[in-house]
Amino acid sequence: MDLTYSSEKLGRIAPSASVEAAQKATDLKAQGLDVISLAAGEPDFPTPPHVVAAAIASIHAGDTKYTDVRGTKELRAAVAAKFKRDNGLDYTADDIIVGPGAKNLIATALTASVNPGDEVIIPAPAWVSYVDLTKLADGVPVVVETKRQFGLKLDPETLEEAITDKTRWLFLNSPGNPTGAVYSREELEALGKVLEKHPHVMVLTDEIYEYLLFDGVKFVSFVEACPGMKDRTLTLNGASKGFAMTGWRIGFAGGPGGLIKAMGKVMGQMVGSSCTTSQAATVAALEGPQDYIAERAAAYQARRDRVLELLAPVPGLAAQKPQGAFYLYVDCGGLLGKVSARGKVLATDSDVVDWLLEEALVATVTGAAYGLSPYFRISIASALPVLEEACGRIATAVATLKDPA
Ligand code: PMP
Ligand code: GLU
Repeated sequence: MDLTYSSEKLGRIAPSASVEAAQKATDLKAQGLDVISLAAGEPDFPTPPHVVAAAIASIHAGDTKYTDVRGTKELRAAVAAKFKRDNGLDYTADDIIVGPGAKNLIATALTASVNPGDEVIIPAPAWVSYVDLTKLADGVPVVVETKRQFGLKLDPETLEEAITDKTRWLFLNSPGNPTGAVYSREELEALGKVLEKHPHVMVLTDEIYEYLLFDGVKFVSFVEACPGMKDRTLTLNGASKGFAMTGWRIGFAGGPGGLIKAMGKVMGQMVGSSCTTSQAATVAALEGPQDYIAERAAAYQARRDRVLELLAPVPGLAAQKPQGAFYLYVDCGGLLGKVSARGKVLATDSDVVDWLLEEALVATVTGAAYGLSPYFRISIASALPVLEEACGRIATAVATLKDPA
């Protein structure tokens, strides 16, 4: 990092590995290389037509000015109704804040509430941005490894051990990126019991993959399972994943009024207000037809099953079966120590990811970025034939690996 232009703090922060991997794949494709990108975490499906129509109508109606810092009245009411309808949660419009993406709302919440040295517990593997956004807010990320026997989900004992006097936040993410793990009501209740004993700890529950569930698994929102935690929980969600609206940049959250007000103060300085057109579109997404969501979840499930089937016979790889979201977190421990056809030893999961890109022209994201190695993450948000071709390339490349001499 060139310190001429960046602060020391920025020097301690890594670039987003998922954003970088996706960008690298796009750049290579632009150079004419036949790369298949399984790096980006965004739906391949289009934004639904009724949402697009609502956005265009709002522009023609002249809704092209700044809005309330915390979001339009219409969108905050629609979000409050969504929390009631889907999660049984009672938030008033004053308990809701809208931001330009869930990513921004995490940064806003941390900026609003973290003092230097405050600790943020992040159960790993975890989405790449939690650690670095915590550091950007002068907090201290406390990354705790989850256990395989608990499906790579946080268990109460591990949580209890991680909490200190300095803990400010616990991050939860269900369905999870990168594992696709979904917390059951009982699992959330068990975490809530631990948190009852530590009233200084707040919970940021990232539920952005709520609608993307497989095998009939039911989603339970954290506060739905632990109503006593409502006053110290930020329930985070957004338009990006369920409604296929990544580029519209709308996230939303419900929480205690005091926290939402503090977040509004940050947003008033850093953002002003979120895109007016995108807010109108999100109202349509929340209030309009929802049937396509289940159809798309079923498509993701079919892709998951096919990719699992194709990767199962590949020696050295073992994929976790996700219950939601659109990722597979693949254990590549069996490839470590092997030597590529060009004589390179695969020592880490990052080596495996670099080698897959060079040798198989398949872009993935290294497990190191998620805090649990040796794994790589693949996105299944691509059409089946593309996923089949990618799995074929991976299998062919693995077959060329040799044991060290
Ligand atoms: N949380 C998780 C777990 C994610 O995977 C993403 C995807 N980037 C986000 C939050 C942020 O989504 P967005 O900023 O597009 O709302
Ligand atoms: N959330 C997506 C992912 O994990 C988008 C990229 C990012 O913001 O990290 O790939």
